[in-house]
Amino acid sequence: MEFNANVFSNSEITVTYTPRCCANAELCAQQLSDVFRRSVIPWIDLEGAQTETIVNQIKKCPSGALQFHLNKKDVA
Ligand code: SF4
Repeated sequence: MEFNANVFSNSEITVTYTPRCCANAELCAQQLSDVFRRSVIPWIDLEGAQTETIVNQIKKCPSGALQFHLNKKDVA
């Protein structure tokens, strides 16, 4: 089974990042740099913004490299 996604999670949300899909335009890092960080590992910090803000940014990802699901149904 091929597994190419990086998985990031907190109590509210799980975010996956698939590098081979990323367009590398840095849209996420430019628009929400407290979460999608350059030159830092792990590069996604889910404590950097509210879950709703993270979700809204992920929805702007043009390639689909970023995906999410909510761990609680009553959030966002
Ligand atoms: S917004 Fe999506 S395609 Fe653009 S750099 Fe971020 S993960 Fe890659």
